[in-house]
Amino acid sequence: MSRRPTGKRSSASDPRASAHALSHSGSSGAIEPIGGLGASKRAASAPAPGLYVTATPIGNAADITLRARAVLGAVDVIACEDTRVTGKLLKMHGISAPLTPYHEHNAERVRPRLIARLEEGAAVALVSDAGTPLVSDPGYRLVRECIAKGIPVTALPGPSAALAALVVSGLPTDRFLFAGFLPSRDAARRGTLAELARVPATLVMLESPHRLAASLAAMADVLGDRDAAVARELTKLYEEVRRGTLTELAAHYAAAATPKGEIVVVVGPPLAAPAPEADALDAALRAALATMSLRDAAAHVAAETGAARGKVYARALALRRTGEDSDP
Ligand code: SAM
Repeated sequence: MSRRPTGKRSSASDPRASAHALSHSGSSGAIEPIGGLGASKRAASAPAPGLYVTATPIGNAADITLRARAVLGAVDVIACEDTRVTGKLLKMHGISAPLTPYHEHNAERVRPRLIARLEEGAAVALVSDAGTPLVSDPGYRLVRECIAKGIPVTALPGPSAALAALVVSGLPTDRFLFAGFLPSRDAARRGTLAELARVPATLVMLESPHRLAASLAAMADVLGDRDAAVARELTKLYEEVRRGTLTELAAHYAAAATPKGEIVVVVGPPLAAPAPEADALDAALRAALATMSLRDAAAHVAAETGAARGKVYARALALRRTGEDSDP
């Protein structure tokens, strides 16, 4: 049963309303003050019914948002992967709340019960052992089912190992692909890497310490010698970020003792194809111009060599103007 009735609540007592007080206000981009929505006041009031997908620290217990603290202290129940792990975090923050386990082994059995409570009007927080739920963690099906049943789902954003690793990697952040854990068997891992090799983006992958060296070797083979970073124990006492090419990192971890702790590997986007030498470009253009129009020849050679189309067209034009467009 819920700890409080399901009637309509004022927006001041709704943590989703408090989100607005903390958020950028659309047009001006300014951050509004917290005002009268301090954590203690919010904790005393019940959140609106619904599922609160709540991020928790990935190591440093202080990395919890004010809003997460308020909501975790006020929901009817917290669904968590491991009640001991979440219990410890709550204790550190002086929060007491009913916990119920929700993990990959009991999800099929527990999900209908959580949905039933949510349909009765309960406020349920979903947390994982660390970081953002659903990101290589349970919760996807629960969220889908809530959406299908019209139960409100609210994200309480916060830490995630993938983003923390990306931003300290020094690799391009404008476009990235989160690939979760690679398969543990070498052949399957190389198959997945071959798919990822074509993606024009930075790749972010979770890895376990004892597979790191083999994984980096496979990455160097399949992805090429890209720039990469190994981020270990982020936000914790022994935090370490090692940067280098995949070949350098593979060699380092092949020689080093198995590292301890939790790891994210970040790999830069595919290496740009080197610009073709002028002679090679001219030769390719002459061959193409023998059978194609100037425009088609330029497009064909640009696609084949990776050189900029405008540059190739200009060179094709120059060759034709000077009569150098066919083999002597
Ligand atoms: N949902 C979590 C998140 O948002 O960060 C990820 C869960 S996944 C099961 C756990 C993996 O995340 C670890 O095996 C490791 O690869 C990575 N990870 C978690 N905490 C980390 C940390 N402090 N430093 C580096 N990697 C971490």
